[in-house]
Amino acid sequence: MSLLNPRTKDLEFSGIPGVLAISLGLPTLCVVLHQLCNDHYHQRGLTIDLDELTNFHGLSFSEIAFNGQVWTYYLLWFFGLVLFDTIIPGTVKKGVTLRDGTSLSYNINGIQLSCLFVLALATRWQLTHGSMPELVFLYDNTLQFTVVAVIFSALLALFVQITSYLPLSGSNGKGTKERILAVGGNSGNWLYDWFIGRELNPRIGPWDIKLFCELRPGMLLWLLLNLASMHHQYLKYGQVYDSMLLVNLLQAFYIFDGVLNEEGCLTMMDITTDGFGFMLSFGDLALVPFTYSLQARYLAREPLTLGAHYIGFILGVAFVGFYIFKASNNQKNQFRQGKLPHLKSIQTERSTKLLCDGWWSLSQHINYFGDWLHATSWCLPTGFITPLTYYYICYFAGLLLHRQHRDELKCKEKYGKAWEEYEKKVPYKIIPYVY
Ligand code: NDP
Repeated sequence: MSLLNPRTKDLEFSGIPGVLAISLGLPTLCVVLHQLCNDHYHQRGLTIDLDELTNFHGLSFSEIAFNGQVWTYYLLWFFGLVLFDTIIPGTVKKGVTLRDGTSLSYNINGIQLSCLFVLALATRWQLTHGSMPELVFLYDNTLQFTVVAVIFSALLALFVQITSYLPLSGSNGKGTKERILAVGGNSGNWLYDWFIGRELNPRIGPWDIKLFCELRPGMLLWLLLNLASMHHQYLKYGQVYDSMLLVNLLQAFYIFDGVLNEEGCLTMMDITTDGFGFMLSFGDLALVPFTYSLQARYLAREPLTLGAHYIGFILGVAFVGFYIFKASNNQKNQFRQGKLPHLKSIQTERSTKLLCDGWWSLSQHINYFGDWLHATSWCLPTGFITPLTYYYICYFAGLLLHRQHRDELKCKEKYGKAWEEYEKKVPYKIIPYVY
């Protein structure tokens, strides 16, 4: 094996058993969460009714997984967005420097695409006088769409795994036709590499599959699912409750912040380090839209009036969380661009510096803390009748802890002594004075 693509020796997630368990377990979780939140399920507290959980209203597995209409709409949605993503002009930005010394160009057109998306929604609203049959269809067939998205993400991961073995059409920065593989996804075991992602940046022509999946089909479908739940509540109860409106507004804000600031994603671990396999394709295309929209789906059948005081409190939590998340990420980005030279830092042997001042003196991942706090504000509008709607912050805490652990291992190896010094200066990992 050449130096460009070293063989992966340390397997994550306890290797094959862990990868298999996650690949089967998380899609099952998506279906279970859907079942616990559908209109027919009457759940209180922690009691779970197994009969209702497995009640698919007479639909067989093949009717759920291979519904022709759902597949058609899903494929139109995915490839329609691919088309818009590639033809809408944007600003060309360079990604980080890759192992072969080159960097990829990305067409950043999130603002243009978001404007078009909002315009299309408004036009449909106008044309259908608010009846929006596509939102009704989406709400009524959410389970089918969930299963279709899971199957599609598995197939997409298989597709990129197969293409990762093909030589490049041109040559890479080392003058060979070898693709750059992810350091963690080149174990030689098919199942493991399919899960983690073998190729670092799979592309078809200028279309970057990883960045696209990260920001377009899943994030915008999450927005549509929330709107479909709000629409359902309106049709069912003749009004939209303040809790539903708040969840929609807070999450729409986060979604558009991600889609509009896509340039910031170019330095995220998912883009710079992780391969694109089932872990990311499933996360982006299935887990994000179908489980992050759970609060709105729950409120669609359990409307709740919050009142001004509680709304004020939730907005306060959202603001503080978002401010920490945004300000800390911005500070690190600006520092890495050499814009904040007055801040204290530690020189590494790689001629880069580790920031240990400002937000980054409080904890090693203060941005995770802000993100988690902000996510809490999405759960609070659902009240305290069921723990179900708090699933998201539990899952997200697990995701961020795992990410912190992976990043720590990476940085320890990459920065050696400088990282040890950094850990002494900034001992807390995520929450200042707690952890
Ligand atoms: P970070 O933004 O914390 O980036 C970690 C990397 O930054 C390290 O690998 C290292 O990279 C560099 N770094 C770490 N510490 C320092 C320092 N003190 N000074 C300078 N550089 C440093 O992590 P992520 O990329 O994981 O996350 C980015 C954002 O995305 C976070 O706010 C997170 O909350 C959010 N996120 C949200 C998710 C969601 O589902 N909503 C999922 C995942 C992330 P290098 O090797 O280049 O030096």
